[in-house]
Amino acid sequence: MEEILYIVVPCYNEEEVLPETSRRLKEKLEALMAAGAISRESRVLFVNDGSKDRTWQIIEEFHQSCPIFSGVDLTRNRGHQNALLAGLMTAKDRCDMAISMDADLQDDIDAVDAMVEQYHAGCDIVYGVRSSRKKDTFFKRFTAEGFYRLMNAMGAETVFNHADYRLMSKRALEGLAQFREVNLFLRGIVPMIGYRTGTVEYERGERFAGESKYPLKKMLSFAMEGITSLSVKPIRFITGLGFLVFIISILMLIWSIVRWAMGETILGWASLICSVWAIGGLILLSLGVIGEYIGKIYLETKERPRFLIREVLEDEHGKADR
Ligand code: UDP
Ligand code: MG
Repeated sequence: MEEILYIVVPCYNEEEVLPETSRRLKEKLEALMAAGAISRESRVLFVNDGSKDRTWQIIEEFHQSCPIFSGVDLTRNRGHQNALLAGLMTAKDRCDMAISMDADLQDDIDAVDAMVEQYHAGCDIVYGVRSSRKKDTFFKRFTAEGFYRLMNAMGAETVFNHADYRLMSKRALEGLAQFREVNLFLRGIVPMIGYRTGTVEYERGERFAGESKYPLKKMLSFAMEGITSLSVKPIRFITGLGFLVFIISILMLIWSIVRWAMGETILGWASLICSVWAIGGLILLSLGVIGEYIGKIYLETKERPRFLIREVLEDEHGKADR
């Protein structure tokens, strides 16, 4: 039996790119169906992440014009990661494999073939990895690559240059469903699922139209989120730092006693005031990092839902399945 593929596409204010994206995805799915690589029941699943423009109306129109398109409408904007999760969890019960992809066509659609091939070769998770970032601006490339390096240095196990373009099998999705964390960072969680994995390289293109929904501010908070939800290294670092500072202060104390015994007066007012500021700064910074973790614990204990679905568009096949 041929297997059902769902392509999950989170969309936030993407009315400009959706017509082109849907056209190309439809072409791709139809080609794969004709080649017998996937079932005729395969679908493109758009997730509307509380867009303020006509995104949802456009998705509804697609659905009416062609059953290959279905949609999930979230009750409000919950961010890329949560929107993606909502789509994957909706796809989980309907598909054999799901590929997540951005709406802006930056992820090369042609990599889908290789992903499906690797799935048939026995991989449960196939990562799309960017072979180069030539088309990104220098700034984006610099910040993004720095981000991956920082993440790994901080102990979060992520795949280098892999964003959220990946294929997951049904059982990998079921594994993902068991990770209940509210502070969601999919790139760090997916490697924890295990199973046999593969990678597919592709060239990252330019955004097809519209502008990035990830300005620097969001990227920084995303990095912070990633690190603090996956690793406790920063806290260990602070403990180590505190210990070091304490040792240094003892040494300084001994040193000043020795100088005093030798009858020398200590002049260093400047160095004194500097160290007071330095230590004050370190303490504030440390409190901030610890506070970040406590904030995470606070959110996790609330166990708030990660997304709420207002409506799912689907045809008879989807309904009959469950
Ligand atoms: N996105 C989303 N919710 C948000 C922000 C973005 O669903 O709050 C979607 C967006 O529509 C796109 C994907 O996440 O499909 C990636 O966003 P974008 O292309 O703007 O990020 P970049 O490629 O610049 O990192
Ligand atoms: Mg993009």
